[in-house]
Amino acid sequence: MTIAAEKLEVIRQQVQDHLDHAEQHHLTPERERQLIAQITARLQQENAVLVAHYYTAPAIQALAEETGGCVSDSLEMARFGHDHAADTLIVAGVKFMGETAKILTPEKRVLMPTLEATCSLDLGCPIEEFAAFCDEHPDRQVVVYANTSAAVKARADWVVTSSIALNVAEHLADQGHKIIWAPDRHLGDYVRRQTGADILMWDGACIVHEEFKARGIADLKRVYPDAAVLVHPESPASVLELADRVGSTTQIIQSAVEMPNERFIVATDQGIFYKLQQQAPDKDFIIAPTAGNGATCRSCANCPWMAMNELETLATVFDRADNEIFVDPAVGEQAMVPLRRMLDFAATLKR
Ligand code: SF4
Repeated sequence: MTIAAEKLEVIRQQVQDHLDHAEQHHLTPERERQLIAQITARLQQENAVLVAHYYTAPAIQALAEETGGCVSDSLEMARFGHDHAADTLIVAGVKFMGETAKILTPEKRVLMPTLEATCSLDLGCPIEEFAAFCDEHPDRQVVVYANTSAAVKARADWVVTSSIALNVAEHLADQGHKIIWAPDRHLGDYVRRQTGADILMWDGACIVHEEFKARGIADLKRVYPDAAVLVHPESPASVLELADRVGSTTQIIQSAVEMPNERFIVATDQGIFYKLQQQAPDKDFIIAPTAGNGATCRSCANCPWMAMNELETLATVFDRADNEIFVDPAVGEQAMVPLRRMLDFAATLKR
């Protein structure tokens, strides 16, 4: 077992303990109302804004919207936080999202409900091993996914999100560049097949998307032949082959709105159902089957780290000393280079 895999096992156990604890502590509707009122008041007092990812709990997404914050993917969360007038950003998501917000907006205070909320892709790409890997291949452009630490971003030439991964790879391939792709091997494999780019892959994966199973989706398609299959590209190739559309979280939501189908089988974290149902209220959404009880991740189709964002931890977010995001200014400055390159490139696509 590699160091990264050992670390992942330890953290997976911590996450499971957290989920077991959460299962036993369901909030009553009255308690939920109290917490929401408390958080809303503190956001105003502190001139803070809540920025939440699509994979967080519905109550947190609703609270972000009701208090003038945003619910989005990691790139849009960072952009929103950067442009907003608040002094403090409360990032409900996983740690790399808080770090990205801090890199883009170093003058603001960035707090998270818990800094233990991480990501298997980030954990599986420690900077020392990754930097050594890059050093062995100096002829390649280093492209890293947003789901990485600030230090890994600082070592990269490009940062990408799933929404522009194909465009960036095409752009680099057109210029004759060879690529190192990290950390998600499924996304990298998809990009390689779609663009024909020369890609050397880092071996990482998302423990949530990796559990979707092609066989289960094919069985479900037989029951609902009219359903369109929407798949996030962190899923295995066998699952992508069954997709009517492959796309980022935002692209999945757009597809559900635009496509004429009335029913969708969705292969991504089920937190996205809040937005899907909000944006396409007359349509039906079914979560794609996972490996079930035998899976390595007990909380399949529900990221265990995203689930650590709870109303109770959010209610104390201003009062603790263990939940502020700090990024070494030199690392932040270096990471800003590929992040800025991504934002500028994304802006050219919109024109
Ligand atoms: S769903 Fe996967 S990629 Fe997203 S934060 Fe969780 S572990 Fe990371």
